[in-house]
Amino acid sequence: MSLMIYNTASHKEEEFKPWNDKLVTMYTCGPTVYHFAHIGNLRTYIMEDILEKTLRYLGYNVKRCMNITDVGHLTSDADSGDDKMVSSAKKEHKTVLEIAKFYTDKFFEDFEKLNIKKPELVCPATQNIDEYIKIIEKLLENGYAYEAGGNVYFDTSKLDKYYVLTNHEEENLLEGVRDSVDVDTNKKNKTDFVLWFTKSKFDSQDLKWESPFGLGYPGWHIECTGISIKYLGEHLDIHCGGVDNIFPHHTNEIAQSESFLGHHWCNYWVHGEHLNDESGKMSKSHGKTLTVDTLVENGYDPLSYRFLCLQSHYRKQLTFSYPSLDGAETAYKKLKNRVLSLKKDEEIDNDVYNKYDLKFKECLEDDLNTANALTLVFEVLKLDTNESTKYKLISDFDKVLSLSLTESNNTSDESNEEILKLIEERNEAKKNKNYELADKIRNDLLEMGIILKDTREGTTFERK
Ligand code: AMP
Ligand code: ZN
Repeated sequence: MSLMIYNTASHKEEEFKPWNDKLVTMYTCGPTVYHFAHIGNLRTYIMEDILEKTLRYLGYNVKRCMNITDVGHLTSDADSGDDKMVSSAKKEHKTVLEIAKFYTDKFFEDFEKLNIKKPELVCPATQNIDEYIKIIEKLLENGYAYEAGGNVYFDTSKLDKYYVLTNHEEENLLEGVRDSVDVDTNKKNKTDFVLWFTKSKFDSQDLKWESPFGLGYPGWHIECTGISIKYLGEHLDIHCGGVDNIFPHHTNEIAQSESFLGHHWCNYWVHGEHLNDESGKMSKSHGKTLTVDTLVENGYDPLSYRFLCLQSHYRKQLTFSYPSLDGAETAYKKLKNRVLSLKKDEEIDNDVYNKYDLKFKECLEDDLNTANALTLVFEVLKLDTNESTKYKLISDFDKVLSLSLTESNNTSDESNEEILKLIEERNEAKKNKNYELADKIRNDLLEMGIILKDTREGTTFERK
């Protein structure tokens, strides 16, 4: 089998075939660094991490690039409102670049906590201005862009087909991205979008650059086109992001990239569904910032959140709740303890190894079915084979799952404490003649690789 992945551009699962057999190019829309990333944003980055690691596990080399949006993203994705970075800098009494650095650093700290691999190419939008200018100049030259009211716009009427990613009605999409109905009278068509702002709309905009179109700054969409083409070339294999990026951001990226290049640009568009909270989509601009740090402050292991995300398919919406995180944490810790208790010094049973490694690849090749991949981990634990084969399989699976299943660093004290607490609960249950509960606790511990011994001095335990 080979990797089947859902492509938003064709609205179906497709067999993945890169432009070049040896190297997959992958572009990821990075964060707008005006606030902490919330765990919804991070769900998208977990999905992209799984995709990159799957490609590597299947034997591909991957060159991956991510931008950092530190200029040009207005409060509405449809080019109206304030620049998010400028408003945040004002609020926090810092410069835009200070804000960008602070939140970029925090963003990558979250990556570490969630075992998300940082792409090897990370490019702030403000460091590639020449690239956008070059593209805009060509778009003006070949008639795909026009200047009006001081700004440069992309002319969507010049395209045969603008809505290449969606089947939705134009009017609905436009409403969807408008925070306020703030009609820009410079636009020839309502779907046109800004490539370069010079309008002195924001007197306080710190960051402005000289350009042939006047002193100004780039629109949000052009940065991803510019950075992607500069670092990954004219033919891109995979472009990813959350579903909210499909329109207008990715739609506009395709419009301007293909008009600039004069040919088809990217083959696979992979989008992750949203994480919601009880009140709907989690969003930075709604001021709701449920962050990784919040989870840690509430006593959770960030990898329990990763486990929770992997339990569901990336193309299904997921509603976050603490009870569901509790469930994920219990299952995750049990699993980890069980894996840590496996023996590692026996000879590997290659037939079993190959059979189950293939099954694991099949789960991932099935449009990144991480839920089935996790089920397979539990299946491996129950196999009738030696423990070292199980350990080897699971530690290799963990190259993609990245749940630190074989890293024992902080577990011993912490889990000893947990075990002692469970033993106490079992003693209490026995005292109350609740033998059902007492047996359940013993069995739960056994599943975690903990064997209880009832002695005259009390209950002791050892790891299998
Ligand atoms: P932003 O920093 O707002 O540009 O978003 C960074 C990434 O997070 C983008 O790929 C978005 O599509 C994605 N994203 C935003 N909100 C959510 C959410 N609630 N759930 C999952 N992904 C999201
Ligand atoms: Zn982007």
